[in-house]
Order: sequence, then structure tokens, then C-alpha cells
Amino acid sequence: MKKWLLFFVVLLLTACGNQTATEDTGKSKIKIGYLPITHAAPLYAQATAQYPDYEVELVKFGAWPELMDALNTGKIDGASVLAPLAMKAHEQGIAIQAVALGHQDGNIVVGAPTITDATQLKGQRFAIPSKYSSHNILLDRLRQTANLQPNDIDVVELPPAEMPAALAEGRIAGYVVAEPFGALAVAMDKGDVLFQSEELWEHSICCLLVLRRSFLEENSTVAQAFIDDYHLAGKLIHKKDEEAKTIVKKYLNVEDDVLDLSLAWISYDDLTITKAAYEELVTSLESLKLLDKIPDFEQFVMQKVTENPS
Ligand code: ZN
Repeated sequence: MKKWLLFFVVLLLTACGNQTATEDTGKSKIKIGYLPITHAAPLYAQATAQYPDYEVELVKFGAWPELMDALNTGKIDGASVLAPLAMKAHEQGIAIQAVALGHQDGNIVVGAPTITDATQLKGQRFAIPSKYSSHNILLDRLRQTANLQPNDIDVVELPPAEMPAALAEGRIAGYVVAEPFGALAVAMDKGDVLFQSEELWEHSICCLLVLRRSFLEENSTVAQAFIDDYHLAGKLIHKKDEEAKTIVKKYLNVEDDVLDLSLAWISYDDLTITKAAYEELVTSLESLKLLDKIPDFEQFVMQKVTENPS
């Protein structure tokens, strides 16, 4: 009887420990959620590369709520996700840690060709992907730059892929969203760049690479290798050469001119989350009153797996 009990305990532990191991290669499989945007490009390089101890399986989502649901329920080990959405999940008790930036800069405010100055957005409809986004913060800063009040712009939430068409059809006068959807409107001559994100917010934090804490705890060595390799993948994509573009185009269905524009605006060479940039994000979220309990840097950000945030 005791032998059988021991057998079952061993079986259970083995099953838990090898949760992510693939049968064929024996390597750990790390499942990471993403939306097909330029902002997730370092992950595309990782999913294409060969690593000795693990492989990255990218799980594609069409919208942020579905991705967050998969992350919250443990169907994926991590994701490249909008920072405020990840912070909201953390606030709600979902055990995730931010381990790196998705990118630096790389958002543009697009206006219809008739809009030559941000003040002309007064009384107009303007789209953001989610109120829980850095794009909402960029919109807030745009309002301040143009001396506009919160109610002066009619803000709507739209799925990113719908924004270029909505602008072309005159349903909205502008938008700010993850790439390549800004570049798409510019390349089609349906929109102009009103601002680069760094003109409104230097060192803005947009997307974060987050991992579930259970994954980090159960796979600490592999998780650290994955994070280290993620930073190297960022440097590879940052070259923005033919190799980088070929990798990105495996995951992103875009024309070369759109991709070139999109990559020209973004940076991936240093994906470290700095405390100063994080605290500015926190201050911005506090002024928008979007979250009740914003996690502080030490609670939420883990750049070395050996760290032990609360
Ligand atoms: Zn982003």
C-alpha cells in the first residue's frame, strides 16, 4: 500500500515538474502569448531560434482581453502585454511578474490629413485600444500639450486593426495604438504623424514581457535563460536588417514599406525595465485614476529570477 502511495506521489511530482517538457525533444516548452504587432518582435526572434534547453511556442491572440484571460488562467506561461493591463491583473491577485520591456518608444499619434495641429482634435473622435494602455497616457499628455480638457476629445476604444480603416473613412480624426497600425495609415496616405511617443513621454513604458510566478518558481533556470536570451533577441531585431525583417514578417502580415516605417520608430536594444521609467508610468496611471492598488517596482518587476519579490 505504502509503495503504491509513494508511486503516485512520485508520478504527481514528475508530472508537475515536467509540465512544460516536450515529449519529442525533451526540451522545456515555454508558451508565450502575443498579439501580431511590431511591439512583440523580440519574441518572434526567440520563437525562430534554437536553444539547448527550451523552445518558445508563441500563442497568437486577436485581442488583449483573450490574451489576458489565457494568462490569468495559466493556459500560457507568459505574454508580451500592455503594461497597465498586466498591472491591473497583478492588482486583481494574478501572480505575474514583469521581466523585461517589450520595446522602447515606437508609438505614434496619427491624425487625419486635415488635422495639422493637436488643438484641432477638440470636439473630434479619437481612438485608443484600451483605457488600460500607455496609449491612454499618451492621449492624456497630448491633451495637456494642446491645452485641452478631458471632455474636449471624444475618446473611443477600438480594436487596433480597425483604426486605419476608421481613420480613412472619417469615423475618427486620429488614434494612438501599437504598431504597425500607425504606419499603415501613414503608408496609405490616410494619416500623418502628429507626435512620436518620445515627444510626449520620454522613456515611455508600453508593452511588458510578463511571466506567471508559478512558471518562474518551477522552472527558474530555464526562465532565467529565456529572459537572458530575450534581451539578446531584442538586440538582434534592433539591427533592423534583412534577417530581422524576415523574422518579423513570419509573424506579421505587412508590406515592406509599412514594416520599415514601423521599425524606424521603435527601439529594442535595451529592454531593461528601469525604476525611473516604471515610477513615471505609475505616476501617470495615478493621475488617470485607472488602478486602485498599483504594484510598486519591487513587487512587480523581476529582472533576475533569483530575486524574490513579495
Ligand atoms: Zn507596445
